[in-house]
Amino acid sequence: MSNKEEYTYKERLVELDTERQFRIGEGKISGYLSVLLGALSLLAVLAYLYPSVLTTTELRQAYDAEKLQEVLKYGMYFSLFFGSMTHFLKKYRRYGCTGILLTLIAFALGGYKVPVGPVDAQTLSLGVDWLILALLGSAAIFVTLEKLLPKYKNQVILRPEWETDFLYFCFNHLAISAILIYANYHTSHFDWAVSASFQSSFQSLPFLAQFMIVLVAADFVLYWEHRLFHEVKWFWPVHAVHHSVENLDWLAGSRGHFIQVFSERAMVLVPLYLLGPSESVLNVYVVFAALQAVLIHCNTRLSFGPLKYIFVTPQFHHWHHGSEKPAIDTNYGAHLVLFDWLFGTMHMPKQHWPAEYGTTKPLPKSIIGQTIYPLKAVLKMLKTNRA
Ligand SMILES: [Zn+2]
Ligand SMILES: [Zn+2]
Repeated sequence: MSNKEEYTYKERLVELDTERQFRIGEGKISGYLSVLLGALSLLAVLAYLYPSVLTTTELRQAYDAEKLQEVLKYGMYFSLFFGSMTHFLKKYRRYGCTGILLTLIAFALGGYKVPVGPVDAQTLSLGVDWLILALLGSAAIFVTLEKLLPKYKNQVILRPEWETDFLYFCFNHLAISAILIYANYHTSHFDWAVSASFQSSFQSLPFLAQFMIVLVAADFVLYWEHRLFHEVKWFWPVHAVHHSVENLDWLAGSRGHFIQVFSERAMVLVPLYLLGPSESVLNVYVVFAALQAVLIHCNTRLSFGPLKYIFVTPQFHHWHHGSEKPAIDTNYGAHLVLFDWLFGTMHMPKQHWPAEYGTTKPLPKSIIGQTIYPLKAVLKMLKTNRA
């Protein structure tokens, strides 16, 4: 970018929104926690009652359903505890009542004592278990990180449009089995390229070597898929949904059109399928990729020291979401900075961060509006092409 040196960077200003802020002693924190834990408890009890339609076949093997009932027990009691707190604090009682009511329904349906037995696996199911575990895990890790090491101290947890991104988060996790079915179907087209002898020699490599090769191969695919979404005008409206978010945090990365979510997962599976790494490498990669995808959107100043020259960090990906000129169509990498550096699309000014996030043209605010946006945009392009 020739005008990179002349560009004057501005500081991003985030004003404290006292209406949306959580303050200790008001009852708002207790109210929200009661509703959250009550709703998750009810969902968990339903998942225990109907595991074959509400839990994920692949994930069930990774956890002990009986042990998780202990966690559920605490979740239910904490929901009741936080709900009663709102009555003492005299505010947000409606939230407290809702949380208590949800937990009481969960108790009435069997609570944390629903018998756990063998599950009749269904091909297609809803990932309620995946949603609950991911939401509790990510909220605990990343909200703590954002509070301890924030980039923008004034940015509140419930920032504008958090509800939209929360719905995306729910959809992406509930649809996990549909995404995997589609991704596996897509990958089966590459059966002809699979070599058993290659895979067995790949598996004989040390763990770290396998992991790094998997990371490079996956990132190569993700880099080009991402770049095509930006640079092919017919694809951009789909990806613009991900870029329409104007406040970045741990939840913001969930915003993405379903076409993008499905195609991205399907494509990244191809190099993994061809390489055929050992199971432990694959599991570590899946966890690494999931955590990194959330982390790079986080509102955190955590810089990762010299690791920022290898891996995609929050600052690197925040620039990808920047709407300032030098940042447009840069930093496509998902895991590594390697391909942006190699193909000349890197934008990483040392100490600066973007002043603005979002798309240059505004998108609809609702999830339905955003879902049909690409169709409308493509029809509009076809019309202008014909005229
Ligand atoms: Zn992008
Ligand atoms: Zn992003």
